[in-house]
Parts: sequence; C-alpha cells; structure tokens
Amino acid sequence: MKLYNSLTRKKEDFVPIEEGKVKMYTCGPTVYHFAHIGNLRSYIMEDILEKYLRYTGYDVKRVMNITDVGHLTSDADEGEDKMLKGAKREHKSVLEIAKFYTDAFFSDCKKLNIKYPDVVEPATHCIDEYIKIITKLIDTGYAYLAGGNVYFDTSKLEKYYVFNDFNAEDLAVGVREGVGEDTNKRNKNDFVLWFTKSKFEEQALKWDSPWGVGYPGWHIECSGISMKHLGEYLDIHCGGIDNAFPHHTNEIAQSESYLGHKWCNYWMHVLHLNTATGKMSKSSGEFLTVSLLEEKGYDPLVYRLFCLQSHYRKALVFSWENLDNAATAYSKLIARIAALKPEGETDEAALSAMRAKFTEALDNDLNTSLALTAVYDALKFNTNDATKLAAIADFDRVLGLGLAEKAEAKRKADAAAPAASAGEFFVISESGEPDAEIEAKLIARRDAKKAKNFAEADRIRDELTAAGIEITDIPNGVKWKRGQ
Ligand code: AMP
Ligand code: ZN
Repeated sequence: MKLYNSLTRKKEDFVPIEEGKVKMYTCGPTVYHFAHIGNLRSYIMEDILEKYLRYTGYDVKRVMNITDVGHLTSDADEGEDKMLKGAKREHKSVLEIAKFYTDAFFSDCKKLNIKYPDVVEPATHCIDEYIKIITKLIDTGYAYLAGGNVYFDTSKLEKYYVFNDFNAEDLAVGVREGVGEDTNKRNKNDFVLWFTKSKFEEQALKWDSPWGVGYPGWHIECSGISMKHLGEYLDIHCGGIDNAFPHHTNEIAQSESYLGHKWCNYWMHVLHLNTATGKMSKSSGEFLTVSLLEEKGYDPLVYRLFCLQSHYRKALVFSWENLDNAATAYSKLIARIAALKPEGETDEAALSAMRAKFTEALDNDLNTSLALTAVYDALKFNTNDATKLAAIADFDRVLGLGLAEKAEAKRKADAAAPAASAGEFFVISESGEPDAEIEAKLIARRDAKKAKNFAEADRIRDELTAAGIEITDIPNGVKWKRGQ
C-alpha cells in the first residue's frame, strides 16, 4: 500500500514498525462546539485509512485525544481559551461543555459510520504524562521558563519546519494570526508547554506542577497521550491540513527532543472542506453540522459518499447542489443493489477479480473515488447476483456506506408498498419497521403533490401528524417515524 507522507512529500510504501501491526494516532476534536462537516471530512478519511488497514489484515490500534483544555483561539498560544469561550457562551462549566460536545461528536461519527477509536483520551486525564515530558525537556535544555510559563525553545532544533520549505518569516505565527506577540518567547515560534501565568483568571481547570499551578499547552497533549498508549514509536499520525503547522510541527519538536529519536514515520493530512466563500471554521460560529444535514432531509451517509467521491489530498468544495448530486447517486446505487437477488453460489474467481480493482484503488494513497468505481464495476460484472452482493458487502467493510443495510431496508419497503420504487421515490421507516398503511398514505401524498393537489397533500400530512406520525421530506422521498 502506498501512502502520501507529508514528511517526505512523496507517496511511499507503507511499512509498519512491527510486522502486521499499526499504531495510529488521530488528533481529536476541540470540544467547545459541534464538529462541523469539514472536521468530519478529516475523520471520515481517517476512518477509511483505519478500515482499509484492517481490511488488508493489519492489527490496528488507534488512539484519539479529546482537546478539553489548552487550545487557544490562535493555534499559537494567543487569543481566548476555546473551552472557556464555549462555556461562557452557554453559561455552563468547561467540563459540562466538554462532555456535551464529546458526546455530540461521537454521535455524529456514529451516523457517519466512523468507527469509535480503540482508545479515546481527554487531554485533562494525562497531566502526569505532560509533566514528565516537560520536566525532561527543561532538564535537557529544550525548554525554558519565562514570565511564569514553560516554553519550548525551537532554536535548539536543527530542523524545525519539518513539513514545508517556507521560511521563518512566512510562518511567523503571531503575524500570521494577526494577534499580539508573547514577549516571553525567545523565538517567534517557541510554544507554550505549560501555562502558569495565565491571563485567564477564570480558567477553571488547573493542576499543580513543578512550575506552579496551571494547565498544559495544546500541543503537548498529543505527544503525551500518544506515548502513553502507543509507546515511543508511532506508525501513522493523522489530522486535517491546518494541523500540520504549528500543531504537528510542535508535536514532532517536543516528542523527538524528549525521546532522542524519530517518533512517527508517516504523517497523513486531509485537505479542507471549503464553502464557496472560504474555509469552514468552528470559531467563526458559521458552519454546517450533521444535524443540519439531517434536518434538511439528507442521510448522513450521503455526506460520507460525497467525501469519498474526491481524493483526500484535494480541497473539497461544499455546495447543496453537489450534495444533492451525491444524494441522487446514493439512492440510485441502493436501488441497484436492492434489485440484486441473493441467489446462487459465490464465484470466487469473479470475486477476487473485483477485489483486485478495489484494492488497487485504495493501495494507491486511498483513491476512494476509484474504489467507488469498483462498486459500480461489480454491479456490471459478468457474474451472478450472489457474487456481486458478496463483493459489495466486502468493499463496504471499508467504504462504510451501509450499502447492504440500506438495500435491505429498501427491499422491505418495496415489498410493503411496491409503488414506492416507481420514479425512485423512497419511503423510509426510521425505525426499520415497515407499515403498509402509512406507506400507502405517503405514496398518495406524493401523488397528490405531483398532481399539484397541495390541499390533499396537506390533508394527508395532517392526518398522519394527528396519528402521531412524524414525517420528513428528503431529496428522493420521505422518512417517517412514530412520535415519542
Ligand atoms: P478541531 O476540533 O478544530 O481541533 O479540529 C478537528 C479536526 O478537523 C482537525 O484534524 C482539523 O485539522 C480538522 N479540520 C478543521 N477544519 C477542517 C476543514 N474545514 N476541513 C477538513 N478538516 C478540518
Ligand atoms: Zn494533536
């Protein structure tokens, strides 16, 4: 398998440190707000990587942190504390905010079929790890105390800018972020390992340390959590492209200075999801969430498909029109799979020929759009339906599009209300329990709308509402469920 490595700026053969095993670390969310669908693009692609590694037989251990302390609005230790900002906004404590948005994040992940990592560790749980690392960094001259804080001294490194060839001026963080400089720093890109002279008097989370009561900087958490669970050597470290600098650059600086050897071999960065007006960002407060997509009637897996249709190393532009196209592609794909009959013996030779195309695509730096083509090729392959279904189920172990489950639900819905499939109109029972009478009414409502008889369509909706049935229109049909 070849993976693009941001460290070498080349596609390289992936060779793990220990044969058959992969140690993988993913930067987790900062839990002061909902994750936006841009963040989730990164997690979807990292999920594909993990699932594909497992698919090819690796034993993967994946660790993710939860940033619940130390991340300031500028990635360069300036600005407001993000968690404090979230707590103030909602008149809650930092821990309440952290719990709420951590749960919301994993609920979104579940809807997007993103596997829960083997280890999830909140930054606030590993203070001892950070203190151990920082103590050694001070002892060995890589870190210094100034103005009450502990800083990493980037001038002690032979090479600090590991991911790019920009010069120091371009990456002068204070300037880049348009925020004031920290005069305690000896060098512009030095970063905080531990804050004691916090300008945030209300900072709720503080711990004792050899340098006074305070809290850790943002970058140290990923080094500490990774080493705690994965040891001194790491195979793959992932994150969105904005993490490359300064976050990952600083992680490498402090980890390798602490360990005295190379820390992680492969760095994978996912390019951003942007809107037509620019980058989607949590701090601006204007962003799209999975819940919003659902409210608008989209299945979250349509968004997963949308992400898989492009390569993770290209920026992806979101638009409702593009998402609608993905929704149409998704329902057509489900309809084609639902039409297959699970009969006949699996033809192993055909199956391995189909699989070869699929693995060839993903072996090439996770070319997911080509891997999707392998699904369409399987549908057209000259073999029986049972073999096609086996191939699709096999591929979906990595793609995670819920293809078999959705096709089965469609088969059931069609059996209950055969008219539903006419014109690709989906009637989806959210509980999975079909109900012929309700489905017939929803089809009649569709027919009334088609005939522009909106009064009749509204009458049917009102009748269903009165019976406690909640309905949501989706791009290619309607979803229904019984109210609480
Ligand atoms: P945060 O919660 O801000 O710490 O970010 C969580 C993850 O989302 C990190 O890996 C970021 O690099 C990534 N990320 C942030 N914005 C975007 C975006 N617009 N598109 C893709 N990934 C993003
Ligand atoms: Zn990190």
